[in-house]
Amino acid sequence: MTGPNSKTQVAVIGAGPSGFYVAEAFANQCTDVEVTMIEKLPCPYGLVRYGVAPDHQKLKSVTSTLDAIAEYPQVKYLGNVTLGQDISLEELQSFFHIVVLTTGMPNSTSLGIPGEHLPGVHPATSFIGWYNGHPDFQDTSFDLASPAAVVIGHGNVAIDVARILSKSIDELRKSDMTEAALSVLAESQIKTVHLVGRRGPVQAKFTPKEIHELGKLENCLVSIDPKHLDINLSSSVELNDVTNALGRKNFSIFQEFGKHFGLSSDKKQIVIDFMMKPKAFIGENKLQTVRFDITSLEGPAFKQSVIATGKTSDIHAGLAFSCVGFKGTAFPGLMTSEANGALKHSRSGLLSELGVKIPGLYAAGWAKRGPQGVVGTNRECAQDTVVHIMEDIDQLIKAPKPGHPALVSLLGERNIQCVTFSDWKVINAKEIERGKSLGKPREKFTSVADMLACI
Ligand SMILES: Cc1cc2nc3c(=O)[nH]c(=O)nc-3n(C[C@H](O)[C@H](O)[C@H](O)COP(=O)(O)OP(=O)(O)OC[C@H]3O[C@@H](n4cnc5c(N)ncnc54)[C@H](O)[C@@H]3O)c2cc1C
Repeated sequence: MTGPNSKTQVAVIGAGPSGFYVAEAFANQCTDVEVTMIEKLPCPYGLVRYGVAPDHQKLKSVTSTLDAIAEYPQVKYLGNVTLGQDISLEELQSFFHIVVLTTGMPNSTSLGIPGEHLPGVHPATSFIGWYNGHPDFQDTSFDLASPAAVVIGHGNVAIDVARILSKSIDELRKSDMTEAALSVLAESQIKTVHLVGRRGPVQAKFTPKEIHELGKLENCLVSIDPKHLDINLSSSVELNDVTNALGRKNFSIFQEFGKHFGLSSDKKQIVIDFMMKPKAFIGENKLQTVRFDITSLEGPAFKQSVIATGKTSDIHAGLAFSCVGFKGTAFPGLMTSEANGALKHSRSGLLSELGVKIPGLYAAGWAKRGPQGVVGTNRECAQDTVVHIMEDIDQLIKAPKPGHPALVSLLGERNIQCVTFSDWKVINAKEIERGKSLGKPREKFTSVADMLACI
């Protein structure tokens, strides 16, 4: 491809970490490339801003690495533009040689049990989005008047939810949690949080760092009924497997929590329950009880199945959060996994509903591989995607494409107010300024209109 407009034009959809890492990999692996990062919100960073817990500010500082990528001369940021609403995939493909979807997994997996729509039952995404100030979740209200809450799931997202419900308000005030969320949490009547999983302590997906942090909360006692630590033979084999150092660390922390069982305390309590599978949410007009099947594990090590024993157990609680997984967005014409909505691909190239690879269309990050790994895992994933794209590149760049200016012009005709990275820096500075008087890292704007009003 030669001529004045001979650059390889790439559009990356979604400015979470994966979007930035794809842009970085292109800048490093491809000469004469222009990458346009398109993000539905005015602000970048995806779940680093709206998922990672507000009291984990150190992790959020990865944004400075992402900012450096946005400043590459080959990279342009276009916020406040939604694929599927403001622009279609076909239109993007007419402007860009390569389109990479890094749209994440914005929806919670539902449990599919009766009563899930009762007031008081919430998916993790809405609570996490709400306390992190995501504009889509600010109209959700959480009634924290009940003395007990149930958090379903044994992964780190469930720990985040349990910790936020249990931390003292003074500890949370130092975070960048929104003032609106802080004022609701300050009135919380919750005394006990039940953190419930359907498998045993050896199978829990917590990482030791997160579970250890739970045990260090100022205002909270964490306990486990020691009966749960009496594990079956297959679980013992799993625990003692050479590859399972993390599992053994978790287990020794659980043993410490076992010593707290039955202690009375003025503190809030987190009770970690195992071998309980949610069966129904029960209540007249709002949640009153969560019913669980008591389970057992059967089968050889690492292949144990969860079996309902026929016995049930009830926890009386007015609030429940399901933290059992995330689901991706379906895009018309693209094949997705039934299990979690991940985009089906062959060497990162997206497949049509007929299973045929669509030229020029790729994915990276959670949208491609599902909700796994830490922020850095998305960097490797993005690099892999770009390596795969480079294998196809000669087929993709036969003729010039107009790229960023043509897209901006079309969005202008559609009266879309695009946000540049310089605009975002103005919004960012105002948020930091608002936070100063409150002694916080920032006070986020929680509506798109308020963000746009800054620029
Ligand atoms: C509650 C929670 C806590 C976490 N805590 C940690 C932690 O402590 N440590 C850690 O390492 N990792 C943590 N993670 C994981 C980490 O956040 C993810 O690995 C990472 O954010 C995934 O990056 P991504 O870019 O693939 O997706 P996302 O971060 O979800 O980014 C996707 C982006 O795409 C945009 N988008 C979606 N649809 C469209 C569309 N149609 N048009 C335009 N843009 C669109 C979204 O607005 C978003 O900005 C946590 C995740 C969650 C959910």
